[in-house]
Amino acid sequence: TEACLTEIEGAGALNAFVHNTPEIARDQAKAADARIKAGDAPDMCGLPIGIKDLFCTKGVPSQAGSRILEGFLPEYESTVSGNLLEAGAVMLGKLNMDEFAMGSSNETSVYGNAVNPWRRGNDEAALTPGGSSGGSASAVAADLCLAATGTDTGGSIRQPAAFTGITGIKPTYGRCSRWGIVAFASSLDQAGPMTKSVRDAAIMLEAMCGHDPKDSTSADLPVPNFEAMLTGDIKGKKIGIPAEYRMDGMPDEIETLWAQGREMLADAGAEIVDISLPHTKYALPAYYVIAPAEASSNLARYDGVRYGHRATLSQGDGITEMYEKTRAEGFGDEVKRRVMIGTYVLSAGFYDAYYNRARKVRTLIKKDFEDVFAQGIDAILTPATPSAAFGLGEASDDPVQMYLNDVFTVTVNMAGLPGIAVPAGTDAQGLPLGLQLIGRPWEEGDLLNTAYALE
Ligand code: GLN
Repeated sequence: TEACLTEIEGAGALNAFVHNTPEIARDQAKAADARIKAGDAPDMCGLPIGIKDLFCTKGVPSQAGSRILEGFLPEYESTVSGNLLEAGAVMLGKLNMDEFAMGSSNETSVYGNAVNPWRRGNDEAALTPGGSSGGSASAVAADLCLAATGTDTGGSIRQPAAFTGITGIKPTYGRCSRWGIVAFASSLDQAGPMTKSVRDAAIMLEAMCGHDPKDSTSADLPVPNFEAMLTGDIKGKKIGIPAEYRMDGMPDEIETLWAQGREMLADAGAEIVDISLPHTKYALPAYYVIAPAEASSNLARYDGVRYGHRATLSQGDGITEMYEKTRAEGFGDEVKRRVMIGTYVLSAGFYDAYYNRARKVRTLIKKDFEDVFAQGIDAILTPATPSAAFGLGEASDDPVQMYLNDVFTVTVNMAGLPGIAVPAGTDAQGLPLGLQLIGRPWEEGDLLNTAYALE
């Protein structure tokens, strides 16, 4: 814990931690020492971790990267962070993220962007750590903490993990409780671990997840011992390679990485099978209807009354002006764009044309996966991202280009499946690249084991 606190002090330029909690960390570390001495040391005991700012942490600022939650001190602990603390983890502080988890580069944060510790060759230009869990990725990659929590609505664990050379798993929807995590798109949001290795991910996921009566979508299923499932034996497993993920204009290095992944799994005894997920190309547009729709509804609660920031009012302002001014100055541009798109697609005249159609597309995407799993496919291998980390500012003016980052990851959220990104090589300039494995629902143990064979 002390070593991490020192590293954090020296790494201000990464802007990964946005709120440090050294006193809490030291107290928790002492308590962990006592537990270890008493012979009661759960798996996470004494391990210093960072918590994404999207998780409500009791008495500790939890702003979801937004100005509108300035001054908000939750009176409760999210179930996931609470589970980790109960398992003995030590909280070093809160981690930077895109505002309300909307983004792929951490550039929409009220705290300013987090920075990727990696550089392109000898080029000093700062790169994005990806988003929205950019602070988590940067902190783990730079050894500021041993692991971090992330959340993934459309790729926000897997894309930043790929951009920083770490491992990140989004479990099956319902595996981790969403209670106490600031909601973005409730039917897609899932928490998961961001770690230095597959083994760490297995240990941390087990500590995070489990049934929670406070989240009605939390699954009442036993939590397996994921670490015990890491045998490295994947003989006879069928790995699907979806034709539709071979996108036009995909860089050669991504194509090569994917081929290397196929070879590694084949060498380990898996059977590689060509498969088709025919509705893949509709996933991104449907996601960018459904996610903003849910966000516009979830973000209606930020009214200047219940949480955080309230605008200074002028004489004669009524409640409407209070709402308007608070939301105008409390939300950033990307959040406003999503609220406007979401409100539009849910409006009476356009509901059927956009929102309802996107929901039907979502069902077809889910069915694509069900079909290949019914054919006996155990896991699906794809690239995690269409490129390596890009420069800060390079895509921030063009929302559609930014949304394209999610092309390989959103399908997994739309179908509620588990997906993992593992570091799998580097590009010509030495930047990390990641591969993604997609698994059957509730079979994270199997998925982690396949990822373990790729590591
Ligand atoms: N980049 C996607 C978005 O902006 C995904 C974000 C996420 O997974 N939280 O919606």
